[in-house]
Amino acid sequence: MTHRASMVLGAQRLSALGLNRGSSGNIGVRLKNSFLVTPSGIPADELLPQMVVEMDFSGMVLGAGKPSSEWRFHRDILAARSDMGAVVHTHSRYATSLACLQRDIPAFHYMIAAAGGDTIRCAPYALFGTQELSDLALQALRERKACLLGNHGMIALGTDLKAALALTLEVESLAQQYWTALQLGEPSILSSQQMQAVMEKFKSYGPGASA
Ligand code: 13P
Ligand code: ZN
Repeated sequence: MTHRASMVLGAQRLSALGLNRGSSGNIGVRLKNSFLVTPSGIPADELLPQMVVEMDFSGMVLGAGKPSSEWRFHRDILAARSDMGAVVHTHSRYATSLACLQRDIPAFHYMIAAAGGDTIRCAPYALFGTQELSDLALQALRERKACLLGNHGMIALGTDLKAALALTLEVESLAQQYWTALQLGEPSILSSQQMQAVMEKFKSYGPGASA
């Protein structure tokens, strides 16, 4: 399948799961010396592979189309994080609810480590589509693969689109669990030693890793 086709499927999947509605959210995927980004303002059910926009890292459109208003953070993240191949942005319910409190998600659950550390940071608010938002997102993402965007939504990264989508689902699920736990009381937070041990154990977790 082409990158363009998998981006369309990815956007449709996010919509089917209720993680994005209307034209909220967007997807970026690295090519060799350029990247692909979903077009601006097109709902997932109207998206076609040929509508996906190719851009170079100077921000020029290669070919035709109006790129996502968030092309700057897709470009800046892919440029700064050579280990990452895809960027997913959503306005999913629970991640966005927490982002509206402008609060980091602490290590209330060990799976927070899936985002690369012992918190999922929340970037301060900035206007959508701005360089300021991109700069703040990049800071919140240092040593991490996901962050919240204050009063806006979330971003998840992956080595490829499949991994970025899987982390998007995980972050939304963690946000829901944290939100639910907060209704019941004050969640107990794992210590940095406990999270270090999780990070260590993750290295040998999964079918591809040796036990
Ligand atoms: P685009 O339709 O321009 O990608 O914008 C959606 C969005 O989520 C802006 O932050
Ligand atoms: Zn957005």
